[in-house]
Amino acid sequence: MTVNTLPTSAQKNLPLLGRSLAELTEWTESQGQPRYRGKQLYEWLYSKGARSLEDITVFPKAWREEFAANPTVEFGRSQIALHKQTRDGTEKFLLKLDDGEIVETVGIPTSKRLTVCVSTQIGCPMACDFCATGKGGFRRNLEKHEIIDQVLTVQDVMQQRVSHIVFMGMGEPLLNYENLVGAIAVINKDIGIGQRNITVSTVGIPNQIPRFAREHLQVTLAVSLHAPTQQVRAQVIPSADRYPLESLMDDCRAYVDITGRRISFEYTMLAGINDSAEQAYQLSQLIRGFQSHVNLIPYNPVSDADYKRPSERAIQTFVQVLEDSRIAVSVRRTRGLEADAACGQLRGQHQMAEKQVQF
Ligand code: SAH
Repeated sequence: MTVNTLPTSAQKNLPLLGRSLAELTEWTESQGQPRYRGKQLYEWLYSKGARSLEDITVFPKAWREEFAANPTVEFGRSQIALHKQTRDGTEKFLLKLDDGEIVETVGIPTSKRLTVCVSTQIGCPMACDFCATGKGGFRRNLEKHEIIDQVLTVQDVMQQRVSHIVFMGMGEPLLNYENLVGAIAVINKDIGIGQRNITVSTVGIPNQIPRFAREHLQVTLAVSLHAPTQQVRAQVIPSADRYPLESLMDDCRAYVDITGRRISFEYTMLAGINDSAEQAYQLSQLIRGFQSHVNLIPYNPVSDADYKRPSERAIQTFVQVLEDSRIAVSVRRTRGLEADAACGQLRGQHQMAEKQVQF
């Protein structure tokens, strides 16, 4: 007989948000409540926008009051510190976590879709030279419930069901592996967003791409390539020294072999660095024969980085060269970025404003 005590004991201090129906039912029973309360809690937590046990009006008042006075477990929702709408309909949120840290999330509506750009870390240790988050340093990984909360917050406030998720907010998702995979499971099973509508974006971490492939998820993997050669890549991505382009491409090949899914290569275009027609040709050679798609992202200026956005002509030539090599390519016209640019910049500004108040 095997005795598996780990999940229950380890779960004791975990918040309710992030738990499965079975785990929530177990918890309500442990509180002396009937089993069906577990299902109610599950529905209010994941579908009805409850932010605390007190919000769940189908629960007995006495229990709610007792719990509010003496909570035995965290509910798991974060506070909204800032909510900002931009002219094109994109909505940005700064969420304040229990330890006072601030995380950024963005809701991007397009015709029938609502995409949430989700963060996985507070700050980022990868320090890519052109990225606002990278410039701000690293604080910590987000907990699973702090990742899930971002999706629910956007859904509640924008009053529209979230249809798509992109893990393209702050941080490097594959450095917070367990919480990423755990959050994807909840977002998929409990919030009800199809795996095919979820994209995980990574700059590449040794061994983690094949590991992620072996999860056999139906999500899209986006790899931030940004350069066709090791030399140019290492110029803008410090971690490329430890994980050279060749090894990254080997792991991408392994990913395609294991999953049978194509990879989306992201390529932030930086004028004069990686945007020439010759580099477009080199890129086409690098990914030749790959089941892939290239997503070009014209650089979005970040205050203290000295890069420039490429000209429209350079972008069009780059696209043409790739298309001539029969490579599927699209250009991401960044929405919601005109006011405070890419993810990470809003948080940076907010912290600066807070500092000005403090000192
Ligand atoms: N750490 C993950 C997620 C980062 S954000 C990764 O590196 O993939 C998603 C994408 O936006 C990445 O490709 C990132 O390189 C790109 N990006 C970051 N800052 C940018 C900027 N200022 N302009 C354009 N793209 C940027």
